[in-house]
Amino acid sequence: SGGLVAYAESQSDAGPPPIDSNQNEVRKKKVVVLGTGWGGTSFLKHLDASQYDVQVVSPRNYFAFTPLLPSVTCGTVEARSIVEPVRNIIKKRRGEIKYFEAECVKIDAANKNVFVRANTDTTLVGNPEFSLEYDYLVIALGAQVNTFNTPGVEENCHFLKEVEDAQKIRRSVIDCFETAVLPDLSEEERRRNLHFVIVGGGPTGVEFAAELHDYFQEDLVKLYPMVKDLVKITVIQSGDHILNMFDERISTFAETKFKRDGIDVQTGCRVVSVSDKEIKVKVKSKGEVCSVPHGLVVWSTGVGTRPVVRDFMEQIGQANRRVLETNEWLRVKGCEDVYAIGDCATINQRKIMEDVLAIFAAADVDNSGTLTIDEFRDVVDDIIIRYPQVEHYLKSNHLQDVTNLLKDSKGNDRKEVNFEEFKLALSLVDSQRKSLPATAQVAAQQGTYLSKCFNRREQCEANPEGPRRFRGSGQHHFNPFRYKHFGQFAPLGGEEAAAELPGDWVSMGHSTQWLWYSVYASKQVSWRTRVLVVSDWTRRFIFGRDSSR
Ligand code: FAD
Ligand code: MG
Ligand code: MG
Ligand code: MG
Ligand code: MG
Repeated sequence: SGGLVAYAESQSDAGPPPIDSNQNEVRKKKVVVLGTGWGGTSFLKHLDASQYDVQVVSPRNYFAFTPLLPSVTCGTVEARSIVEPVRNIIKKRRGEIKYFEAECVKIDAANKNVFVRANTDTTLVGNPEFSLEYDYLVIALGAQVNTFNTPGVEENCHFLKEVEDAQKIRRSVIDCFETAVLPDLSEEERRRNLHFVIVGGGPTGVEFAAELHDYFQEDLVKLYPMVKDLVKITVIQSGDHILNMFDERISTFAETKFKRDGIDVQTGCRVVSVSDKEIKVKVKSKGEVCSVPHGLVVWSTGVGTRPVVRDFMEQIGQANRRVLETNEWLRVKGCEDVYAIGDCATINQRKIMEDVLAIFAAADVDNSGTLTIDEFRDVVDDIIIRYPQVEHYLKSNHLQDVTNLLKDSKGNDRKEVNFEEFKLALSLVDSQRKSLPATAQVAAQQGTYLSKCFNRREQCEANPEGPRRFRGSGQHHFNPFRYKHFGQFAPLGGEEAAAELPGDWVSMGHSTQWLWYSVYASKQVSWRTRVLVVSDWTRRFIFGRDSSR
């Protein structure tokens, strides 16, 4: 059963609630939050911290605005402009939030404890390890880079996940140019140093390639004129197209633009291994492996589960899953006082077909074995909250009205439906179950949703607001999490961008880049970072980028 329910029971068994000896007050529930990225920060920003005893653990004492990381790799934006100290964020909250700059090394689900290790020098603190008890745990640890165990990747590739990664890339790009102009190098060696390879044609890889191309065209070409004809940028993609998660028009636009810019896109290729000077690539169609010399490789494919999350999954019976699974209320399956949000977790969206009998029974108020049109409409209004696939299904089939589901075999409207017809009407709906993408947008919305659940916990226990037909089930006091997609950008360099906007809108070109500037300025976490980012952009327009190492 759910944590809330369990708590309510233990309260009634144990008599009056525990009283703090000094204050005549119920002990506040302990909430531990792991991670201060998109998910963790948006949870903290909206949490009413006066209701809980809140402790936050993260090895980096800042929030990083990841969408601008590719801009940091070329100095378009400075690293300091895209980070906001955690302590700045939590000091603005009502109530006290404790923050520890430390790494969570283990979650002990059975004893409701997390073990953490501080970053501090051990000569200053005797034992940098300590543990924190929780009543509720919020896991927002994000994901780590997935190397797919490809040999040499760990040692020889750059990643683009953290602020430090972006800073390292910036230095390495300049190193490549400085090395390439040294005397006594063969032309072949100069070319090798100036070959920049990006593995992964997703949004991050493509944006980095575009940034690097701009950096070269706008600034470096003037600073290193002697090697300007030797520079090459290659994007290696295992699928057939880059940006394949976007609308087809966007991938085509991106591929055409890259072709015009001279960025080499190799699709249908898989990287087999990477050494310090060479990258081995298998061309899928031909099956042959070729070896390409490189100066720098940025590895930007897929995400994987962090070891501490993996270990937790093993404790709670999710060992054979790929990603930590939660229900639609973001509670971890098999461990209901623990919540997980963002890239480290995935929602297992329940199938309607698993519940179809119960749904029908609840809707058939008079137990007649049939539903009227009004009853049907009513039940769909309700299940749409619980099963978002209903809405996706209606949208993808362009059905304005749910009763369109109820056509009989001749296409006529039905007046009533029996169970078999009801089941048939909904039979295709589950095919529209979607897992949410690993994006900042999803993580932030989940954090906000969860904080609202925490803020109104008591009120909702007394007056549950979940979809009517599921309120009886005990643990669901809230509507489940619903993701709202606001669109996605793909900056492509040369002041051009592509965007997928809500309502099947696709927008591409220079005006989209301006939209990108304004959206990303407005999305900044604080006025401080907003001013910094905008002034970095302005500085770049006027003076170009800073190419010192
Ligand atoms: P994160 O934001 O990664 O946060 C994880 C947190 O956990 C961090 O604070 C980390 O320090 C902390 N942590 C890690 N290990 C531990 C530990 N052991 N103990 C305690 N804390 C720990 N999404 C978009 O929607 N739009 C974009 O334009 C976009 N661009 C991106 C560009 C780049 C280069 C990258 C890398 C990502 C981009 N994303 C974008 C994706 C987005 O950043 C992620 O989906 C988002 O960060 C997920 O949020 P999260 O809270 O789950 O994880
Ligand atoms: Mg987070
Ligand atoms: Mg982040
Ligand atoms: Mg997720
Ligand atoms: Mg009836």
